[in-house]
Amino acid sequence: MTFENKRAAGIKSSPSMAIAVAAKKLAAEGRDIIDLSLGEPDFEPPAHVADAACKAIRRGRVRYGVPAGMESLRQAIVGKFKTENGLDYAVDEVTVANGAKQILFDVFLATLEPGDEVIIPTPCWVSYGDIVSLNGGEPVYVSCGSDTGFKITAERLEASITPKTRWLMLNSPSNPTGAIYSADEFRELAAVLARYQQVLVISDEIYEHILLKNVPFVSFASACPGLRDRTLIVNGVSKAYAMTGWRVGYAAGPRALIAALNKMQSQSVTSVSTVAQAAALAALTGDQAFVAQAAETFAGRAKIIAERLALIEGIDFTPPDGAFYAFISVARLLGRKTATGQLIADDTAFASHLLQQFGLSSVPGAAFGAPGFIRLSIAASDRELEGACERLAAMVRSLE
Ligand code: PLP
Repeated sequence: MTFENKRAAGIKSSPSMAIAVAAKKLAAEGRDIIDLSLGEPDFEPPAHVADAACKAIRRGRVRYGVPAGMESLRQAIVGKFKTENGLDYAVDEVTVANGAKQILFDVFLATLEPGDEVIIPTPCWVSYGDIVSLNGGEPVYVSCGSDTGFKITAERLEASITPKTRWLMLNSPSNPTGAIYSADEFRELAAVLARYQQVLVISDEIYEHILLKNVPFVSFASACPGLRDRTLIVNGVSKAYAMTGWRVGYAAGPRALIAALNKMQSQSVTSVSTVAQAAALAALTGDQAFVAQAAETFAGRAKIIAERLALIEGIDFTPPDGAFYAFISVARLLGRKTATGQLIADDTAFASHLLQQFGLSSVPGAAFGAPGFIRLSIAASDRELEGACERLAAMVRSLE
């Protein structure tokens, strides 16, 4: 018996989650596994975050919240956009949801008509396309290779726009490539969008604070104020404050769009957990030293992994500018055979062999719309990263 409708059957569960589950299963069977499949900081949030949550519970702040999020939290988000991005939003131009992921879900649910197109530059985060499809839209993937730094150019954008295009999905710093758009690159895209008034922009800025080199972060809305009334900025506390499990994301955009998102929340989850909102408020308004320290830690790890990967013949790797992933081309190794004669035909076979035989869990590039690559999270200890590079090197050496 099948339970799923066509919409649900047409999408897959998050591939990175599925791989993490497979890696955990092997580890539970006693295998020595280094799991670099999931993208989450491997340390605890600042202590004042947990304290604020405990206080909220003890004070009985555990009733239903309002769909848009606590007023004090929204005020803090307004303050964040002002001080960090130089952006002016009113309190009713921001909203809070269960992670950036739910913001994306709500926005497509609220705005897409069946068949509306969403332009998604690839490599892209695994969930964008399926969230669009689940909400009746058509993901239009635009391949952006290393020739353009894995970024969409004005020409490629213009060539992808049709009368059905509703949204352009941007993500800087990018998961999985770590690419960061400059203000000029954003402005070139905005110049194209100025000619297509029906196209709206989502700028997913969840990795804003994870900067690994001296490449600065710029918010799309700061770079392109002329598109303010067509832009939704998506962000959250998951990556900046190591708060992935707290499930708090937020967005800023035109008042009417934010009201539509709030309506989706009011008829689905009601609100984000009020305890989690108290924790997010503490994160955004407390001491920010944690954020810079975390970025420094990730930058150190990116350096370690870059040094080790440079020693492995047959792979190609450009050190990322931001986020916490190593996106590695294994294209030159495809078509080779394992010691037992098994063909490594594609990146999925590569990642599977790497996990099964060498105990290193990665995500194949196909999951990001970029076959020929694997992604390793660098949100792990130096020892694990060194071990991971040794295992990858051992697998590469073993191929015939
Ligand atoms: N956007 C990107 C690019 C991500 O990589 C992730 C998580 O991996 C998210 C959004 C989801 O973030 P959240 O935990 O706020 O739902």
